[in-house]
Amino acid sequence: MKKVLLIIMDGLGDRPNNSLNGKTALQAAYKPNLDYLASNGATGLMSPVSFGIRSGSDTSHLSILGYDPEKYYTGRGPFEAMGLGIGLEAGDIAFRANFGSVVDGKLVDRRAGRIKDTSELSKSLETSIDGVEFIIKSGVEHRAALVLRGINLSDKISETDPHNTDTEPLFTKPLKKEGEFTASVINKFIERSRRILNEHPVNLKRIELGELPANEIMLRGAGKIPEMPSFSEKYGMNAACISGTPLIRGIAKLAGLDIINVDGMTGRTDTNYENVINSAISSLKNYEFVLVNIKGTDIAGHDKKPELKKSVIERVDRAMEPLKKILGDTLVVITGDHSTPCSYGDHTGDPVPVLFSTEGILYDYVNSFDELGVSSGFYKIKSTDLMPIVLSYSERAEKYGA
Ligand code: ZN
Ligand code: ZN
Repeated sequence: MKKVLLIIMDGLGDRPNNSLNGKTALQAAYKPNLDYLASNGATGLMSPVSFGIRSGSDTSHLSILGYDPEKYYTGRGPFEAMGLGIGLEAGDIAFRANFGSVVDGKLVDRRAGRIKDTSELSKSLETSIDGVEFIIKSGVEHRAALVLRGINLSDKISETDPHNTDTEPLFTKPLKKEGEFTASVINKFIERSRRILNEHPVNLKRIELGELPANEIMLRGAGKIPEMPSFSEKYGMNAACISGTPLIRGIAKLAGLDIINVDGMTGRTDTNYENVINSAISSLKNYEFVLVNIKGTDIAGHDKKPELKKSVIERVDRAMEPLKKILGDTLVVITGDHSTPCSYGDHTGDPVPVLFSTEGILYDYVNSFDELGVSSGFYKIKSTDLMPIVLSYSERAEKYGA
């Protein structure tokens, strides 16, 4: 049996860029090591979750690891909370939260005048009501996540975001009997939040400057964290994850992977990729499966910066030099979790390149690891096919039939 190193370059797939002479970032990048692995491997295109699905990093990573997002993706709330670094526990209920502006009893702006930083406001709302702990963390601009921790909590409650303006802000209602207690503590929280936010120095200052106050917190996307069979139960491999992104670390933890911290891993484009790849290789001494998520490619795609995406790929490629030496006893798998084309600035449903490289398997004729290069490779797969192929190449698959 071989060890497995799965490297997911987030948002790797791209589309033609004018500034790169019509090439994708992968096509334009100098990447001898990725190309070496492609020439010494089986390659193809992978559709994350399914064909044409514009998957998020959360649904895609779940699917790649063999957890059907239809079953285990329990709403944006829990995954958003994990993305903001709130460590979730069994029984927690998590919401996406927005700060909005209420003037004269009416919601006038669902984004609180595009407020830049709500961290002080969020901090002022943390509390405990009727034995339920309220944990809140700010995200970008008006966004935040709220987690309720306590006993007998339910996600069967209505959202409090009216989704339009010029209307009264809402309270929540139980959608089923089991949601009554949760709805009552949330409504107490909302009343208390309104009092605090209306008198908060940040908001008084905003009003003084003629800006809209962030004085209403609206909740949606309620969900519990899913209970998932552990990765080692599913595949019989002990596993670890290296990622600078809280959302990916959260998903890895849900699947029972150990989290390995790496010096210089920032979750941004300035990550020390040498440290990341070298730590992954040394972790293979203790783990049979190591998942690495590299975020920089996705960030460059969202920022619509093709040169930056190309340069991230080149830096990652340089760090991959030592991978050539481990192919004897390790299956190296490299792919993306979705495309984030620089021309589009967000995730698209395009397929992403994938390669499987290890000594002794049959290689295809592909020798360039890019969207077009791998299109003549062996595979056209969905992300749900990835783990079965991994099990097969790493000599773990059980025989089907006699
Ligand atoms: Zn992603
Ligand atoms: Zn993204």
